[in-house]
Amino acid sequence: MKIIIIGSGLAGLSAGYKLCKSNEIIIYEKDAEIGGMAASYCHDYTGKKYFIEKYYHHIFRSDSELIALIKELGLERQMLWLKGKNAYFVDGKNYPMNTPSEILRFSPLSFNDLVKLGLLVFKIKTINDTTSYDRIKAKNWIIDTAGKSVYENFFAPLMKSKFGDNAENISAAWLIGRVKIRSDRGTEGEKLGYLRGGFNSLIGALSREITAHDGKILKNKEVTEIVINDNKVEGVITDGNFIACDAVISTVEPRVLEMLTKSKLGNLQETLRNIRYQGTACALVGLDKRLMRDGNYWLNIKADVPFGAVIEHTNFMPFEDYGEHLVYITSYFQDEKDFLWVKKEEEILDSYLRGLEKMFPDLSRKDVHWAKLFRRMDTAPVYEQGYLEKVLPFVAGPSGLYLAGMFSSTNYPERSMNGSVKAGFESANFFIKKDENCDNCWLD
Ligand SMILES: Cc1cc2nc3c(=O)[nH]c(=O)nc-3n(C[C@H](O)[C@H](O)[C@H](O)COP(=O)(O)OP(=O)(O)OC[C@H]3O[C@@H](n4cnc5c(N)ncnc54)[C@H](O)[C@@H]3O)c2cc1C
Repeated sequence: MKIIIIGSGLAGLSAGYKLCKSNEIIIYEKDAEIGGMAASYCHDYTGKKYFIEKYYHHIFRSDSELIALIKELGLERQMLWLKGKNAYFVDGKNYPMNTPSEILRFSPLSFNDLVKLGLLVFKIKTINDTTSYDRIKAKNWIIDTAGKSVYENFFAPLMKSKFGDNAENISAAWLIGRVKIRSDRGTEGEKLGYLRGGFNSLIGALSREITAHDGKILKNKEVTEIVINDNKVEGVITDGNFIACDAVISTVEPRVLEMLTKSKLGNLQETLRNIRYQGTACALVGLDKRLMRDGNYWLNIKADVPFGAVIEHTNFMPFEDYGEHLVYITSYFQDEKDFLWVKKEEEILDSYLRGLEKMFPDLSRKDVHWAKLFRRMDTAPVYEQGYLEKVLPFVAGPSGLYLAGMFSSTNYPERSMNGSVKAGFESANFFIKKDENCDNCWLD
């Protein structure tokens, strides 16, 4: 069977990996490199070449499919579980947020509020099914459960930095999912996973498996149409050429899928239009010296700076792997009118570095070896109240069209590498089951 996969992110590569042994696979990728949002940048620091993700990435203990895939691909020896120290920068002061006792010293909250925060986290840990929380706004739920002060002084700035003007509409289901993952840390603090050498090794291993089984991964090839006739997929158009196939797995964002299918998705069309995504503008900076001397990996920020978090990668992974200090400065943005999307790279980098200098007076531009900005429009669904109804099915209307990606159920109520690996596998399973049951079922 000839299957075309659109997009070489983790969803596309995982689907290709599962299917390549018994099918003809072609993956089309519009970018010059594969990996989608998990792609890396190769930097050469005075002769020391290394790969580093364009956007900060790590693994959580609960990412079972991703961890199993890493083992299956023989990358287990590269897998590290390390402590990533967290802090919250509020009005000029750093508050460590690693252990329950540190959180209890978060002075912007009164002792009473800290107790309420603790009880809220405890309650969240007992919630196994978030479905009924999808229709409730996180803001209202926090205020009702822990009070206005806990919302305003703790959660609101974090949610604002993640979702901008949409923060007040985010569902309690998203919040519960997020807190559950991040509070799984015991008394010692949270351990996060990372692949030594970067997730580039994972992307590379998947791509090698696919090509070793005669699959093709074609870069700089944008699919401009999924050709659907009589409610059946016939192929795709790329570079003006029609390429026929038996089935298409699309991993592209809903906005793009709508354009590619030219209003031929029936009832799904309306849903595609209603899913909102947000963008990310993430600077990666090589520094001469350590930025956060207290060893913080992840710093959430409530301050008058144009970004919401600073992530010092080399406070997590060994400095020796890179030979310089690496820091991400990042912000989400909501639409194409935002200055983070409109302004030139140099202007954004300058505004980020000015913000960083304000927060860390010891830092000077002389310490900056290089800085690069990575930005993309559709980097995460906005998990607003009622989002669950918009989760896209794996099987789309026309026969032969399958969908897998950040919009899939495996990425609800938060998107992740694990969710996209799972989505890729789930979409592949439709073909594997068909292979097992009958010969030409896809022609149904
Ligand atoms: C700032 C940031 C930090 C993150 N941190 C983490 C983290 O710590 N841990 C974690 O688990 N996850 C993290 N993620 C999320 C994770 O990166 C994603 O959930 C996952 O990589 C998505 O994979 P995907 O294949 O579904 O989508 P994508 O990676 O978006 O892949 C889709 C691919 O389709 C291609 N494409 C689009 N249109 C076309 C077209 N017309 N023709 C051909 N190709 C096309 C795109 O170029 C892209 O390569 C982070 C994401 C961001 C942005």
